Amino acid sequence: MDIYLDANATTPVLEPARAAAMAVMAESFGNPSSIHGAGLKVRALLDEVRATARRVLQAPTGRLLFTSGATEGIQTAVLSALEHLRTRRQRGAGSPSCVLYGATEHKAVPEALAHWNALLGLDLQILPIPVGPDGRHDLAWLQAHLDQAGLVCTMAANNETGVITDLDGIAALMKDRDTLWLVDGVQALGKLPLRLIERRIDYAPFSGHKLYAPKGIGMLYVREGAPFTPLLAGGGQESALRSGTENTAGIAALGVVLKALESGGTFAAPEVLQGYRIQLVQALREAFPGVVFNAPFETSLPTTLNMSVPGLSARTLLDLFDAAGIRASGGSACGAAKAKPSEVLQAMGLPEAQTASAVRLSFGPAEAPEVLAEACRRLKACGDALRNACLPASRHASTAATDRITRWVVDGACCYAVWDAASRQCAVIDPLPELNDTLAQWLRCRDGQVVAVLDTHGHGDHASSAPWLRETLADRMTDHRRLDALGWPLEADEISVGALRIRRLAVPGHTLDSTAYLLEDSTGLCAAFVGDTVMPGALGRSDFPVSTPRSYFDSLHLIHQVIGGDTLLLPGHDYDQRFATTLAVECKAQPLVEGVLTGRVKAQAFVQAKADLERHLAPTEFQTMACGARVDTGHDVGSPASGPADRIEISQADKIEISQADLADELASARRLVLVDVREAYEQQMSPLAQRWPLAAQAHIEVVPLSTLLNQLPAWRNLPPDTPLVFCCRSGNRSTQAARALRRLGHSQAFSLAGGFALLP
Ligand code: PLP
Repeated sequence: MDIYLDANATTPVLEPARAAAMAVMAESFGNPSSIHGAGLKVRALLDEVRATARRVLQAPTGRLLFTSGATEGIQTAVLSALEHLRTRRQRGAGSPSCVLYGATEHKAVPEALAHWNALLGLDLQILPIPVGPDGRHDLAWLQAHLDQAGLVCTMAANNETGVITDLDGIAALMKDRDTLWLVDGVQALGKLPLRLIERRIDYAPFSGHKLYAPKGIGMLYVREGAPFTPLLAGGGQESALRSGTENTAGIAALGVVLKALESGGTFAAPEVLQGYRIQLVQALREAFPGVVFNAPFETSLPTTLNMSVPGLSARTLLDLFDAAGIRASGGSACGAAKAKPSEVLQAMGLPEAQTASAVRLSFGPAEAPEVLAEACRRLKACGDALRNACLPASRHASTAATDRITRWVVDGACCYAVWDAASRQCAVIDPLPELNDTLAQWLRCRDGQVVAVLDTHGHGDHASSAPWLRETLADRMTDHRRLDALGWPLEADEISVGALRIRRLAVPGHTLDSTAYLLEDSTGLCAAFVGDTVMPGALGRSDFPVSTPRSYFDSLHLIHQVIGGDTLLLPGHDYDQRFATTLAVECKAQPLVEGVLTGRVKAQAFVQAKADLERHLAPTEFQTMACGARVDTGHDVGSPASGPADRIEISQADKIEISQADLADELASARRLVLVDVREAYEQQMSPLAQRWPLAAQAHIEVVPLSTLLNQLPAWRNLPPDTPLVFCCRSGNRSTQAARALRRLGHSQAFSLAGGFALLP
């Protein structure tokens, strides 16, 4: 069973509301503008729903029109207000210079303001009203700006945090002014009394699908006497305030919800909802001991919990919740596809780390107590899964085995841990400040001993957090020899990490101190951490004052001689999620590397070519400094998957995705196929692949979390070329990364299960 905790994004439609919509579509399908019986019947229904809405909203006067949703209501209100300001200005009746909106408003408000301000040629200043750390408007700031304002927009309750606006405080400031006031009532409907008339609110838009009615239906309240300009002109429906044949099925369903609000019994009382919140908060505190809540409970809706777990990204939490069948979100649904931190939490001035890890759990007022109880049970299981996987929720040591190399990436910068399970010894390479808590807890959780914290060079884009880690983990540092600036013990030739060895190779160029670390096991060299000297698709830039472009040329030759063309190179930056590379792969991707290693490009020409490449290096997509000029940035898929007929047939030869149906056919054909679940250990624990999709049990399943993918790359590269490797994950995103990486490294039969687990039956 899915536990749906994303009610602020949308809600299911109440069963009787669905029935009412069906009845309208099947029986009362007349056009409310028709004057025959079929039309009159549905017209009566519309009138009845409007009357109910007026009672529920306590709005006996003013206009109340049906819209397609809140976004339309907001447009109509903003257009009406701004058109009024325009005519005032035209008449020379004095003109305000700005419009104000809460810094945490739903995007629809500032976007509508900017849109209509430009279209109407008003050139008004559009100013955000700052909010405090509690998410509430700065009323002193508002008061100071009200004299110049023509319109003020302040939502009643916030969709991301549940923070309730001090509408009385604002109403007191607005008293006796002619400034117009728009209050977005979407998240408040059914949860808070809005007292629209008493507070003299001019416009209040609402949305059906946030309260158990279908999508595509909403309402707009307009105070009697407030300016109004129709957004839609046409057949004159809704008293010519909003033309277009009414969404009668939606209105009927909304009517049922409004009736339920009026008569009681369907929606829980505020005290009950507060009780649910207490249960959830207790479960979250138990599951994630460090959890923080991003809005004060006293001034926020009990149905919304915005939380962060220090050291855990929102992505990690959401993946974990999803594996547990809990559907939550990282912020507003509109922003969910983008990996941007929440602007709402930023406006509240929360620390960056807290903003980056924020997750929203929201439930509707009709939620059943059993569902919340099950949610709490699953949340606690999520905490256990994290503890077993040794992530920051853990307070206890775990004995979970782990792979040799784990990697973390922050904005394209990579950090690695080398781990020897038998001795529990570990070396950290290129620690990033953003990962401080994560790394410290990861090591503690495994009861690890740290033999070295190394940097591949003095980084230009971030400060190394090696000193912090050494100090914080002083009780776990086993090697106390004196260290050089990169963390290498003075006078040591090699470092032992249990049975593994690390040797170093000076590769000046990107910086004078650039160093590669060569990882060896009993079979010999297995991988090299090469910092920014060789990145997938790029060479490190060499235009810093500490760069030595001429010696870069020699360093490339040295890497070729000592490390070879086919050993995995693990970069300091991996902007395009390629995980690893080899010199042979880079020779194909970067003509300059190929030129140097074949002798075609001489030292002086190399220096010149690099300077040309780096002349106008823009920042990366993460707005960080680019550490090299990326020559090969396209999402190449390597060699196309065309070939003998017995291979997976896909419609486009170079398509990386395989549909569930095609994969099922392949599995049924009993041909050898490797299915790799790249979800992290805590997700796997919550829903193992074979359990989730019994058909998968017919394949050879490997469980290789993306963070430890590097360990498997050599074995996969050695698979027979016609053995398909199909990666899968929650949504198809991580599996696509893995499949692309494999293709780039030469295994052409690498695929990603389209849509991931989310689309499995
Ligand atoms: N305002 C708020 C506070 C919301 O949460 C939303 C929906 O996310 C909207 C406006 C937009 O509503 P609709 O989807 O009905 O256009």
